[in-house]
Amino acid sequence: MGEAIPVKRIDAARQRAVATALREFLPARAVLFAEEDTRPYECDGLTAYRRVPMVVALPENDEQVQRVLRTCSSLDVPVVPRGAGTGLSGGALPLGDGVLLSMAKFMRVLRVDPAARIAIVQPGVRNAAISDVVSPFGLYYAPDPSSQIACSIGGNVAENSGGVHCLKYGLTVHNVMRVRGYTAAGEPVEFGSEALDVPGYDLLALAVGSEGMLMVITEVTVKLLPKPPVARVVMASFDDVEKAGQAVATVIAEGIVPAGLEMMDQQATRAVEQFVRAGYDLDAVAILLCEADGTAEEVEEEVARVKEVLARAGATQMTVSRDEAERLKLWSGRKAAFPAVGRISPDYYCMDGTIPRHRLGEVLRFIGEMEKKYGLRCPNVFHAGDGNLHPLILFDANNPEELQRTEQFAAEVLEKCIEVGGTITGEHGVGVEKIDQMCVQFAPAELETFHAVKRVFDPRGLLNPGKAVPTLVRCAEFGRMRVLGGKLPFPGLPRF
Ligand SMILES: Cc1cc2nc3c(=O)[nH]c(=O)nc-3n(C[C@H](O)[C@H](O)[C@H](O)COP(=O)(O)OP(=O)(O)OC[C@H]3O[C@@H](n4cnc5c(N)ncnc54)[C@H](O)[C@@H]3O)c2cc1C
Repeated sequence: MGEAIPVKRIDAARQRAVATALREFLPARAVLFAEEDTRPYECDGLTAYRRVPMVVALPENDEQVQRVLRTCSSLDVPVVPRGAGTGLSGGALPLGDGVLLSMAKFMRVLRVDPAARIAIVQPGVRNAAISDVVSPFGLYYAPDPSSQIACSIGGNVAENSGGVHCLKYGLTVHNVMRVRGYTAAGEPVEFGSEALDVPGYDLLALAVGSEGMLMVITEVTVKLLPKPPVARVVMASFDDVEKAGQAVATVIAEGIVPAGLEMMDQQATRAVEQFVRAGYDLDAVAILLCEADGTAEEVEEEVARVKEVLARAGATQMTVSRDEAERLKLWSGRKAAFPAVGRISPDYYCMDGTIPRHRLGEVLRFIGEMEKKYGLRCPNVFHAGDGNLHPLILFDANNPEELQRTEQFAAEVLEKCIEVGGTITGEHGVGVEKIDQMCVQFAPAELETFHAVKRVFDPRGLLNPGKAVPTLVRCAEFGRMRVLGGKLPFPGLPRF
């Protein structure tokens, strides 16, 4: 982490050849190769990994995307699709010998059908913009990553993104009905439909979360939901992190499905309050934010039940938002938590693991022990209802020794997630960041199945190669390193 990945110098002759071929059908302004133009694309939200692409292509219609892919295929040039570049696992990290295919110009909402409750949008449309556009119809698009003001729906589909409201309304995969796009060879593909079911294998579900490795998405049909008439948030304080974790499991065990159920520990609330005055209880060791939505009667009943359960679970104090302004204020802190933490430390490393809810307390205690062991602070702010953790390890990338401790800290937390029956990613994807941990999570036969699927879509391995699914050779090497070191060398620089 914290360094540019050493790569061979860009091959100038090849760069010229590729740029010239692309300029046969793209305007000159849509083919970038001068370093001052390509450098802004060197990383996504995982800034520890950087690599300047050989060429950046900015198509603006389907035909151009298809021709970029066909051209690259004929020249044997790898292609990395990119949305808004907010990804946190390095999925859009470019290749020094490849084309970075930016979908930033695909920004049109093509059709809104309020009766069918769907919207057909281009992949570069921002997540929050979909809800803005359909709001006059009393509708919205439910999955709401905290990055929703910036991230694109194409990126959301590729990462199967989640958010605060996914506990009740599902992840991206549950809210997308159809995708259209192109394979690596430029063949058009369409998965799903406007109907609830289609014949054949469910390749839509396969496309969602495929991290830009199976197809380039050029159109997405999303489900829209009616805006709930009322929503209120309960903020509950706890004097113990484990109690708060247990309270989350109890709420769900009671059969309540809140619209959102989020947790922040004291380090996180204190960082947030300095940045956004959200009105959090700064004396609480942890707070839960639990949202109820529906009709006024439904909300009143659910809030009463939630309060009763949380009180039994040991909440020391509770407040309920009285109006929409107060509700939004309470969420504003949660949504701004990552940038708030960015203000109190030179660098932070945002992890993303998911565990069974009933193990939350135990894993949070473990993270606390790791803070002491490694001498690094680690605020926690996360989608507690989904068991989706986001430990934010604070470090200074200019201090190599601290960086190493951060890596070991992170490795131990991910090992713990797997040990308690969880997974190494909840919503941020694998990308380059967690590719080695895939070797721990999956057996060789399972990884080989992933490779077989990839080969069906992309036999020559030209679309976003080196991401998400490790080769078996890499896993064997990684296994040897584990045996020698006894620890996962996480995340480390990827070996390409
Ligand atoms: C402050 C902050 C908060 C965040 N909060 C959340 C959160 O709450 N929940 C969550 O899930 N994520 C969150 N993220 C992560 C990130 O925003 C999501 O992963 C998002 O979906 C990425 O979208 P993007 O448009 O930025 O994609 P990019 O980063 O550009 O790309 C992500 C991946 O998608 C692929 N891709 C992009 N567009 C296409 C396309 N058209 N066709 C094929 N492949 C494509 C890329 O190759 C890459 O593998 C957060 C990030 C930040 C910085």
